[in-house]
Amino acid sequence: MRTARPVVVVGGGLAGIAAALTLGRAGVPTLLLDSRQVLGGRVRSFGDPERDNGQHVFLGCCERLIRLLDTLGLGAETTLQERARVPVVDIHGRIGLLGSRGPLDAVGPLAALASYRHLNAWERASALWAAARLDGEARAAETEGRGGAFRTGLFSDWLREHRQGPRARRYFWDLLTTPTLNAAPERVSTAAAAFVLRKALFGGPDTLRVGWARSALSAWIHGAALRSLSSLGLEVRLRHKVHRIVFGGEHVIGVECPQGTIETGRIVLALPPHRLRSILPDRLAKRPPFSSAGRIESSAIVGVHLRFDRPIGAPEILATPDSPLEWIFNTTRIRGAEAETEAEQELSIVLSDAGRWLPLTADRIIACMREALPLVLPEAGSARLVDAKVHREPHATIVPSPRTEKLRPPQATEIPGLTLAGAWTDTGGWPSTMEGAVVSGERAARAIIQDPPPNACPSRANLGLSRGTAPI
Ligand SMILES: Cc1cc2nc3c(=O)[nH]c(=O)nc-3n(C[C@H](O)[C@H](O)[C@H](O)COP(=O)(O)OP(=O)(O)OC[C@H]3O[C@@H](n4cnc5c(N)ncnc54)[C@H](O)[C@@H]3O)c2cc1C
Repeated sequence: MRTARPVVVVGGGLAGIAAALTLGRAGVPTLLLDSRQVLGGRVRSFGDPERDNGQHVFLGCCERLIRLLDTLGLGAETTLQERARVPVVDIHGRIGLLGSRGPLDAVGPLAALASYRHLNAWERASALWAAARLDGEARAAETEGRGGAFRTGLFSDWLREHRQGPRARRYFWDLLTTPTLNAAPERVSTAAAAFVLRKALFGGPDTLRVGWARSALSAWIHGAALRSLSSLGLEVRLRHKVHRIVFGGEHVIGVECPQGTIETGRIVLALPPHRLRSILPDRLAKRPPFSSAGRIESSAIVGVHLRFDRPIGAPEILATPDSPLEWIFNTTRIRGAEAETEAEQELSIVLSDAGRWLPLTADRIIACMREALPLVLPEAGSARLVDAKVHREPHATIVPSPRTEKLRPPQATEIPGLTLAGAWTDTGGWPSTMEGAVVSGERAARAIIQDPPPNACPSRANLGLSRGTAPI
């Protein structure tokens, strides 16, 4: 008796993991393939000691990701702040807190801006007024036909038109949108910025809470994902790099790896956009939506790890808008050490929209960070740097520019059996983040579940584009 051919999910990042789990829970036989030896994709760590490619954080508004982490049993290995608190330090060493403040909790984190010390009373009132306008305009844009300028305009222009000056931008607007969108307001659409700000600030007191893994990223995600997938009876094959999708006429009939060709009638391609074209037949790669994958603009993240010979007084998370350090994470504390009981202390510095850092040598980047650090953490001045590493991810995320946002394709395609996933696809507004990846994977799985398998039941002889079949 012939057993049902599995759906093949290509790519074991968060999008692929979410797609496979959703399929598995619906009872759909599924095979997950990834070219690497660990699951997690860009959520990854490397080396010895194991360091993340860049500290990954999420917010309380990332509901699908939080649910996925629960499903994976990662609650105990994940921190989510009990109350939203983002310390922001200025050039004079003064700390201001963005986040909820007890009595104001009921009206949400936005209300906490009312006592944010880095903006004066006029700047705070103006920022609150502009935030309310942004919310109102976003609601109007949701109404059909009224979203044109909102989607096509740049957020920097919107901020200027709404009289948000350099200080409001630096200490509030850019501080929140540049890391979440991985691009400055000069590069992103107003709609993209409004989406994350509304999710993070208008959703209630918990939405701006910050969460992170308490272990190195690969250790965090890989084992848990493998266990959950196999408990559903799904198969995972690592070190399986897909070279080519095989078609029989218009239908998907398999995927080709160095280990052989795997028969399937349904595929979820959960790959980054720049990897898509090489595995699709030429004629298909030139057709929308696949052709747009090559035109999607990406943005870099640079992660800098600095280990000092003693504690230097860094909180778990610290925003530094006046310094090139941008966001500092105390890795030692995040990974569970009691406050400053460690002999050494390691920081992870995350540089967003980091194209300008890419051409510099690692030594130069480390020297810049080392020089800037004592201005925001004075104890770093007398500490000795015992180890340092720089990690560059040129294609860390896509840029949610007005042009790129239009190019993000839906998960369902017109090609029978072929579905897309990945944080770069259309996620209903989520930028290319962990949450975006999970949303895309779940949507791709639902598209597969709703789409019955093709009737064609090709034989092995059809695979590899033998006589009688033609590439699309
Ligand atoms: C340094 C850095 C910091 C970040 N910080 C944050 C953050 O703080 N918060 C946040 O929410 N997001 C952050 N992101 C973004 C987030 O990591 C990504 O949006 C998300 O992980 C993308 O998931 P994905 O599944 O869409 O793609 P990927 O994670 O890229 O997964 C694609 C998978 O496909 C596999 N693959 C590729 N080619 C093939 C092939 N031919 N055959 C088989 N498998 C293949 C890859 O090995 C990979 O596992 C960060 C990203 C980086 C790089």
